[in-house]
Amino acid sequence: MLKPRFSISLRLTLWYGVLFCLGGVLFGTAMWFNLKRTLTGERRGTLTRRIDRLESLLLKNQNGDLERAFRGFAHATGNGLVEIFEPGGQRALPSPSDAASDFAWPSVQGTRKVRFEEAESDGQQYWVMLRPFTLGGHAYILAAAAPEAGNQLVLDNFWTGLWESVPVFLLIASASGYWISRRALGPVDRITAKARSISIRNLSERLPVSSAGDELQRLAETCNEMLGRLDASVNRMKQFTADASHELRGPLSFTRTVAEVAMRRPGIDAESRAAFREIVEETAKATTMLEDMLTLARADANSAADALGQVNLAAVMDETCEAARRIAGEKGLEMSVQRAGDGQVAVLGDAASLRRLLWIVLDNAIKYTESPGRVSVKLDTRPAGRADTGWGDAVLEVSDTGIGISEADLPHIFERFYRADPSRSEVDGSGLGLAIASWIAELHKARLEVVSQERKGTTFRVLFPLVDARVAAAHR
Ligand code: ADP
Repeated sequence: MLKPRFSISLRLTLWYGVLFCLGGVLFGTAMWFNLKRTLTGERRGTLTRRIDRLESLLLKNQNGDLERAFRGFAHATGNGLVEIFEPGGQRALPSPSDAASDFAWPSVQGTRKVRFEEAESDGQQYWVMLRPFTLGGHAYILAAAAPEAGNQLVLDNFWTGLWESVPVFLLIASASGYWISRRALGPVDRITAKARSISIRNLSERLPVSSAGDELQRLAETCNEMLGRLDASVNRMKQFTADASHELRGPLSFTRTVAEVAMRRPGIDAESRAAFREIVEETAKATTMLEDMLTLARADANSAADALGQVNLAAVMDETCEAARRIAGEKGLEMSVQRAGDGQVAVLGDAASLRRLLWIVLDNAIKYTESPGRVSVKLDTRPAGRADTGWGDAVLEVSDTGIGISEADLPHIFERFYRADPSRSEVDGSGLGLAIASWIAELHKARLEVVSQERKGTTFRVLFPLVDARVAAAHR
């Protein structure tokens, strides 16, 4: 699957920034054209009014001194840019000002209706208006001009301002885009963190649901419904395992007792006795497996989390090793037990569970080591510094010189019913021992570690939090 390179919030920020900026520039450009149209309209209005006034002046003075009146009018307009042309292009009256006579008027020939156009004179842009006019049956073209410079300056300033504001636009847009996306996607982070923490052990927990009524709320609710269904199914499976193990215990122990009684009956032939012995042995194994399954079923239901008290791990170790030493001896294995200190290693725990944990690891060490070989048990303490409690560790280590565990098997050995290699089926076992051991370790807030090398041996290490003096006093 292709991994996205940008987070959604970053992409939203970029999109928002670009779109907002583009919108700003488009809006600015539209405003610029609008301004230009308004200014042009305003110029046209000024020129129209000017020619209107010229028309009324001509009408009023048609029988008087037209030339003087025209000159007076031109001076009154400020820039003096007015002219009266014949339709052929010649001036009907002399130019009223130097500015008008020097001005590069556009050709007036063929002007039959009002014309409004741009012209350049002396390096400057102008708007020119030409309008036909009839006075006393004679046709004229009235012309007036106004400079564009003022308008152009306004338009140029507007345009420069628009482009200068682009980075500011971009910054504001990106910042608001980021803020909006963080706000919108904040719940996603919370949902992700919670979803990550949910596993088969805490399926009853649920994702946080906002009350925004949005898609994220629907997503969280849908995931929670799915978690609910999964939880119910897993609970049914757990219940089934617990019930089945429980129900099978009775018939199994009955079978075993019957076989034991039959085996001891006098006069039974050797073949039948061997068959009954096999039944007894197999039912014993099946009973152990059922007990293990029940233990795990209870662990799943958390019903075995009995109150923990202060336990001397050194004493638990001595007791358990005593029993293991006999079995190891029978198998021709050397066994060494080593412990530091004065024989007092206080941990918070349940003595029976701790014995079981140590027994599982010890039993495996003996089972998977061939003679001649050695099993070593070591108990030591480490100074304070655990990340979770700040206390020290009691380190219990069981090493063997046995067959070892392959790298491929190592990550799976704590799974239920996992047995490393089919060839090991020669060794009795159910594949449940280490699953129970890791549950007991978890119950004691202990860390269960393993290092192994094939054909060299295996070391299991359990790190228990040492009880500090104050806690020890409270549990004494
Ligand atoms: P089992 O009943 O099979 O011993 P466990 O859960 O105790 O089940 O162990 C799981 C698997 O881990 C074993 O089948 C075995 O392959 C491997 N294993 C455990 N301890 C050792 C050990 N000390 N040396 C070699 N293999 C081991």
